[in-house]
Amino acid sequence: MMEDRRYALVFRGHHFGYEVQATAKIFIPGVRFVLCEDGREPEDVPNCITTELCPGESLLLHVSAVLDGKAGERSCTLAADSPEADQEFTLCRLLYDLLRDMTGYTPPWGLLTGIRPVRKVIQCLDAGMTTEQAAASLRERYLISPEKMQLAVDTALVQHPILPHSPKEIGLYISIPFCPTRCSYCSFVSHSMETAKALIPGYVEKLCEEIAVYGKMIPAFGLQVQSVYIGGGTPTAISAQELRQVMEAVATHIDIGHAREYTVEAGRADTITREKLAVIREMGATRISVNPQTLQDNVLEVIGRKHTARQAVDAFLLARDMGFEDINMDLIAGLPTDTYEGFSDTLRRVMALAPDSITVHTLTLKRAADLYRTETADGTIAQVERMAALSAKALPEGGWRPYYLYRQKNTVGNLENVGYAKPGKENLYNILIMDETQTILGAGCGASTKVVLPDGDITRILNYKFPYEYIDRFEKMMEKKQTLREVLAKLSSS
Ligand code: SF4
Repeated sequence: MMEDRRYALVFRGHHFGYEVQATAKIFIPGVRFVLCEDGREPEDVPNCITTELCPGESLLLHVSAVLDGKAGERSCTLAADSPEADQEFTLCRLLYDLLRDMTGYTPPWGLLTGIRPVRKVIQCLDAGMTTEQAAASLRERYLISPEKMQLAVDTALVQHPILPHSPKEIGLYISIPFCPTRCSYCSFVSHSMETAKALIPGYVEKLCEEIAVYGKMIPAFGLQVQSVYIGGGTPTAISAQELRQVMEAVATHIDIGHAREYTVEAGRADTITREKLAVIREMGATRISVNPQTLQDNVLEVIGRKHTARQAVDAFLLARDMGFEDINMDLIAGLPTDTYEGFSDTLRRVMALAPDSITVHTLTLKRAADLYRTETADGTIAQVERMAALSAKALPEGGWRPYYLYRQKNTVGNLENVGYAKPGKENLYNILIMDETQTILGAGCGASTKVVLPDGDITRILNYKFPYEYIDRFEKMMEKKQTLREVLAKLSSS
């Protein structure tokens, strides 16, 4: 008989449901909890976590859980007049301690649920703390492991001076959401060439129109483009001529005279040709990404990539040979069937190529609700952790410093993706997209525009998700640009 994997969260006497749920998800990711805000435990859900605040002379905090028939509980007291923030934090800490003991799993990022740990470090530094004080204070509060704390601090120290200081300095993102085939682990909006080929000419045409619209808006609101990022998908999946069309639209309509960087995510080796690289160089991009993800042929095959490790290396060497001086390579720790030895071999070979930056992603492990108790799961999680730890040690030793970091949401251990770069080769766009303190205009389907006002207020405007919608409803989408104009007017006058 299938085991019942349903989980309930019961709240009594408080309204801290969001953080309590986020804490439970550190240990039990990838499940949809049955939320019981009326305080009653459901009779038909076998796994149940209850959190409770009982008022009195002092405040009693109590948490209990039944997981797979095993029960546990914890409680403590706080002064009756404690601030709400302290009540919420203490309740989550109590739950964290209980679930850590019941599952036997100690999360490397501790109690920290946010995806941007670096921002916490930067906030401490901005408040006048030294790096040591910032690290000690965050470690004590969130129970972060020494290794993760060091990674966050090192990243903050590289990132802090690079961040732009004027809200009128913006990024431009251009989406080309097509790929030769779809990778088995893909969580992006991307369409295989096979299904979308006929749409591409129409898509490119509309994309160029949207770029032209931005070309008028950017100077009209006194904005300045600091970074351009053509991403996907795999932008080099389209033909050299189509790529030229998109990049010509940028050259014609966007003033990139003040841009610090211009990236084209070439991505998959099976799409990179001398002709496309020549277009990218000629049209002024300064940085490309060649993303092997792994240099193990058997793993490439399992994930559905139609190229070999040799092709990825050759694509990199071709780009170097053609004069590209800023090349990133993306790797993924935890790909299906990859091993620690395989990952370590990939890392060694990629480092030997000396790309300017190396980004190490950890694969999302959403099935952990089923996994966290099993040996396979412990093995998988521990292995991905070891791969991430190896990167965090070997890359700085080789001269690549961590410069951006974000944690995967709703995955085992909320492990992190980290960009490492040689000094001066840090990619601003990657920092901005995570930092959420800078405006980014997004063009193309699935792209999101985010306007950040100096008071921190953020307006998001999403483009249509699928190419056929983007093409067919382009005019309707342009109507939304009126909202964008209104927000940009506020940014302009700030
Ligand atoms: S190359 Fe990237 S975007 Fe394209 S299918 Fe693979 S994971 Fe998805």
